[in-house]
Amino acid sequence: MRYCKLRAEEGNKIVPIIKEKFESATGVKKPYYQGEKKQAYAICTYCENPVVIVGFYSKHGKYTPHQRHTKAVLQNMPKYSQSAYDLCIYAKPQKYKKEDRKPLSADRQAKVRIIYPRK
Ligand SMILES: [Zn+2]
Repeated sequence: MRYCKLRAEEGNKIVPIIKEKFESATGVKKPYYQGEKKQAYAICTYCENPVVIVGFYSKHGKYTPHQRHTKAVLQNMPKYSQSAYDLCIYAKPQKYKKEDRKPLSADRQAKVRIIYPRK
C-alpha cells in the first residue's frame, strides 16, 4: 500500500494513495488540489517534500496511482528541500555519474581504439 501525508497542521494524517480515500480526506480542495488541471498534491511521508499524485485522473489509466516528488512551488505546501530529498527512501535512484565509471583496462582501451580510432 502506498501512502502520502497531508498537512502537519491536520495531525500528520497519512492517507492511502487511493483516489476515493484521498478525495474524501482532502475534500478535493486546496492545497491538495491546485492549478488549472485537476491535479492532486500531498506531502511525502518520509522526506516531507511536496509530491504530486500521479494516476488518479490519467486519461489512459495506465498508472498505478503513486506519488512523485515535485519541485513546484505550491501554495500552503512545504517548500522543496533537496537535502531532504537526497535522504528520502522514495527518491529515485541517483543516475550514475560519469566520474564514477571505472577506467577501462588497457586491453579494453586498445579494443575501443580499434573501433573508434583517434583522429
Ligand atoms: Zn520523499
